[in-house]
Amino acid sequence: MVEAGEIRMTKPVTPTKLTDPPKWSANQHVNPDGTYKLPFEDRFWQYVRKTDTCWEWTAGGRKRYGLFNLGGGRGQISAHRLSYMLIKGEIPDGLTLDHLCRNPSCVNPDHLEPVTSGVNTLRGDSVTSVNNRKTHCNRGHSFSGVNLILRPTGGRDCLTCRLVRSRLRSTEETWEQVEQKVKVLLGTV
Ligand SMILES: [Zn+2]
Ligand SMILES: [Zn+2]
Repeated sequence: MVEAGEIRMTKPVTPTKLTDPPKWSANQHVNPDGTYKLPFEDRFWQYVRKTDTCWEWTAGGRKRYGLFNLGGGRGQISAHRLSYMLIKGEIPDGLTLDHLCRNPSCVNPDHLEPVTSGVNTLRGDSVTSVNNRKTHCNRGHSFSGVNLILRPTGGRDCLTCRLVRSRLRSTEETWEQVEQKVKVLLGTV
């Protein structure tokens, strides 16, 4: 059994003792004509280290999604997508797989849920999603109830701030004065 971690070596390694088994190297799993010796599924699972929770993709950085070369000129595919397809089947058109475990290098299909990309952005760690986890706007108004505006693009807005901004254009009153009136209007005082 070849250890997954050893597959990443690109240069042949000279055994230190003659009795050592030959080390795995890149050229050992590629035929002279550039095709792979193993079926892609077998090759794929060699890079996966299964734990009780996450299945770690060992052939790439831990902070990013792993990529897997399908071979035969078929290009690369995300390791977690391929794992999901091999075990659970097709991913519905247009959906991305959300890592419920928040571990980008995990390829455990039980930790992956097909979602629209908007949902994935909401749940992820991007600037948008961090903003979406905030419970209040920058001025301290609650993102809930009547005050919460859901943008069609997935973001959120504060209705209080929006109303205050638009009313300030046609009044001499201060932000605080208009804000107070808007809160009364919305019943959020
Ligand atoms: Zn996981
Ligand atoms: Zn606000």
